[in-house]
Amino acid sequence: MGFEIGDAKKDTTNADTTTGGGAQGSGDAINGPEDSNVAPNEDHPTGGSINVDGAIGSGDAGEDLHLEGDPIVDTKAPGGPIEQRWDKRRFEAKLVNPANRRKLSVIIVGTGLAGASAAATLGEAGYKVTSFCYQDSPRRAHSIAAQGGINAAKNYRNDGDSIYRLFYDTVKGGDFRSRESNVYRLAQVSVEIIDQCVAQGVPFAREYGGLLDNRSFGGVQVSRTFYARGQTGQQLLIGAYSALERQIAAGSVTMHSRHEMLELIVADGKARGVVVRDMVTGGIESHFADAVVLASGGYGNVFFLSTNAMGCNVTATWRAHRKGALFANPCFTQIHPTCIPVSGDYQSKLTLMSESLRNDGRIWVPKERGDDRDPREIGEDERDYYLERIYPAFGNLVPRDIASRAAKNVCDSGRGVGPGGLGVYLDFSDAIERLGRPAIEAKYGNLFDMYRQITGEDPYKVPMRIYPAVHYVMGGLWVDYDLQSTIPGLFVTGEANFSDHGANRLGASALMQGLADGYFVLPNTIADYLAAGPFEKVDDTHPAAVEAVGQVRSRIDRLLAVNGRRTVDSFHRELGHVMWDFCGMERTEEGLRKAVSRIRELRAEFWSDVKVTGTGEELNQTLERAGRVADFFELGELMCIDALVRRESCGGHFRAESQDEDGEALRHDDEFAHVSAWEFTGNGKPILHKEELHYEYVELKSRSYK
Ligand SMILES: Cc1cc2nc3c(=O)[nH]c(=O)nc-3n(C[C@H](O)[C@H](O)[C@H](O)COP(=O)(O)OP(=O)(O)OC[C@H]3O[C@@H](n4cnc5c(N)ncnc54)[C@H](O)[C@@H]3O)c2cc1C
Repeated sequence: MGFEIGDAKKDTTNADTTTGGGAQGSGDAINGPEDSNVAPNEDHPTGGSINVDGAIGSGDAGEDLHLEGDPIVDTKAPGGPIEQRWDKRRFEAKLVNPANRRKLSVIIVGTGLAGASAAATLGEAGYKVTSFCYQDSPRRAHSIAAQGGINAAKNYRNDGDSIYRLFYDTVKGGDFRSRESNVYRLAQVSVEIIDQCVAQGVPFAREYGGLLDNRSFGGVQVSRTFYARGQTGQQLLIGAYSALERQIAAGSVTMHSRHEMLELIVADGKARGVVVRDMVTGGIESHFADAVVLASGGYGNVFFLSTNAMGCNVTATWRAHRKGALFANPCFTQIHPTCIPVSGDYQSKLTLMSESLRNDGRIWVPKERGDDRDPREIGEDERDYYLERIYPAFGNLVPRDIASRAAKNVCDSGRGVGPGGLGVYLDFSDAIERLGRPAIEAKYGNLFDMYRQITGEDPYKVPMRIYPAVHYVMGGLWVDYDLQSTIPGLFVTGEANFSDHGANRLGASALMQGLADGYFVLPNTIADYLAAGPFEKVDDTHPAAVEAVGQVRSRIDRLLAVNGRRTVDSFHRELGHVMWDFCGMERTEEGLRKAVSRIRELRAEFWSDVKVTGTGEELNQTLERAGRVADFFELGELMCIDALVRRESCGGHFRAESQDEDGEALRHDDEFAHVSAWEFTGNGKPILHKEELHYEYVELKSRSYK
């Protein structure tokens, strides 16, 4: 088992929870009481009979919204010198001999960079892999949207980079809320990722001498980001997808596109399968394996508007959470500073302008409030290049959380530009003058084209207008050093796990982490678990499978039965507004309590007034969205509770009550140097388990980019 957790819980309010103490070890025993004591949800659309946390909608009454559980410890994390820990773990992990691998099976949900790389590698190793994605092709996973690049400590530029520096930058960038051992391993593995991708034929940009080219991303002073114009994710995914297709052709991977996982099967305490819906026919199927991997991406769409693909959702991980997997740091959200501003009420998607643009673009606003002249008429001395002014050491390349907050501050002070004053300029005129337009076109051409197509403005001539938007989540399912969740046999990779990025991810580190997990970490660690096989056979007749299928069917039936008046999207949009207003770039005690209260009301309204058209036995996108939004309601509430309980500011989590005299995030390491891992109870009061973070190599200090 990769974790230890005590069994006593301090019930700070009402002891009416039925979670089995110390039961994490047995996986399903900690399942929340799905059928008792509930706030409105799919099981109890009207709220159930007993309600430990008071009337629905009374979340702002100053009550405790959670219970305190015992600490959790990652028992898989090896000790010893940090640079030897990964080697040590790999050496100590049990192996599976090649002849036995074909008798062992793995389900992988997700075919983005994390899932495709894992499926290809495990298939190549000889395991029997079954993969799922909801898109019509694995190649359309959201990873394809990644633009700017992928980090690796190759030090090709000879500018002082090293594994240690990448490790240091990442721990500091995450505002000291990530695990040292994991981050060090990530930095070590980064070097191998690039070699693997080059061998696959990924066309990284090269400089004149033939070496791979690098550029810089926020929060660092070296150039370590490898890129393929503004399409790095697409090129990396084509590499991983090609490797996956090879295994599909070889018969080691069976691919199910257009299948959505709607439930996890936890049999005899272990993750043994999934229930999926065929999105074309509506058929409900169960699939079984010896282990399950969730590589299902991030949940930024809980905010409705985000830079994520429209389909990104939390269902796979949320279903696992409800079955006993702890959810870590759900409130840690990344708000990216350079996105095209919202343009109207009917917008359903926001567009990222890659952070790479901050290498050459300069960010500014007019010095005078309300100055609405054409930016080209505003003279140099009338402009405030506020990032360069406030953070001279890092300038426009401060980390995302800092750049986003600074943009918010200048806009709040009335100096924002464009409609509604919610925008700042990203200006390339200096760079074009210095390097020439062809050089800028070569580096960023597709991003400039995209901007022009969306806004109708030519960024070669007029500065871009940008504003922060939700982009990535650092939160996700809690995993140990082996990437195993608190349910034995359930592994989680990529953005779906709570990852190595602490409270703020540095640019170009998500692709690095997803591929590190899939190509290098998981294939070693999952073997240690599978080596205990052969496992007892589980099939459709197992009570856990029957129960999971029943849960999926009844949920679909309930959604279809409401037959109310409001569209799914109208609920999602309203939830998004609540999340953005109260759990977005700035959070307060009062606002978060209001948010919990409002989310509960909205959720009750959803279950009594949503309109889901069509039937379950056909392609039905309204039904798909309704299921995802129902899960977003439950997640949104947990995010607000997590943000409420963390009474400090760190990284992207900015509590207005906790700032220093310069308005910078003020951490409270004495109280909050921990991962918050939440247990589902089903009664509106989740249980908090804290994993203490220890820093032996990086000194805990206030981040400074000045
Ligand atoms: C616009 C944009 C640009 C970015 N640019 C960069 C960048 O330059 N560098 C960087 O490092 N990071 C970047 N990121 C972040 C990065 O792209 C993501 O964090 C990363 O690609 C996530 O990969 P993943 O494999 O974990 O998940 P995804 O790529 O999101 O894949 C998720 C997979 O899970 C499947 N899935 C999900 N739920 C279910 C379900 N219930 N049933 C079946 N299948 C399911 C989906 O079908 C999909 O195959 C960017 C993000 C955005 C939004």
